[in-house]
Amino acid sequence: MEYLTSPEAVFNEDVVRHYQGFLDRRRQTRPLDEYRPIDKEEWLDFEQHFDQRKVELGGCARPYATSCQHEHACLRCPMININLRMLPRLDEIEVDLLARRARAEAEGWLGEIEGIDLTLTFLRQKRDQTRRLAKVAPIHLGMPGLPPPRAQT
Ligand code: SF4
Repeated sequence: MEYLTSPEAVFNEDVVRHYQGFLDRRRQTRPLDEYRPIDKEEWLDFEQHFDQRKVELGGCARPYATSCQHEHACLRCPMININLRMLPRLDEIEVDLLARRARAEAEGWLGEIEGIDLTLTFLRQKRDQTRRLAKVAPIHLGMPGLPPPRAQT
């Protein structure tokens, strides 16, 4: 099995190829009349969902038609894909968190320290992961589009 990313990454070439093959076979066995054409409104809604998933630090990978369940705590959320261009922003947030931690320590706010430490742990994990993935060639899955209208029988 050939990994296109580091061993910790989820996707590799074989997994993507097998999954796409599975989808193609399933589509071929499904009766054509079960496929309802998408109307323009549905497609627009689908596209808007992806626009709404753009957040400060990158792209949110939550599924279509779901809302954010985590009160936009993106740094702690497994759904965030950090945009490479936002790595300097992570550094800024880290500096800010460290300043807040120093204040919390001086004031004896132990609960605050615990929360900040957790956020710092997630921030550093995501930054390391983003740097690792930046060194790997991306897998191109293609762009979805509206299929041509089917002939009525
Ligand atoms: S917290 Fe998670 S689910 Fe919510 S917007 Fe951020 S990445 Fe998406």
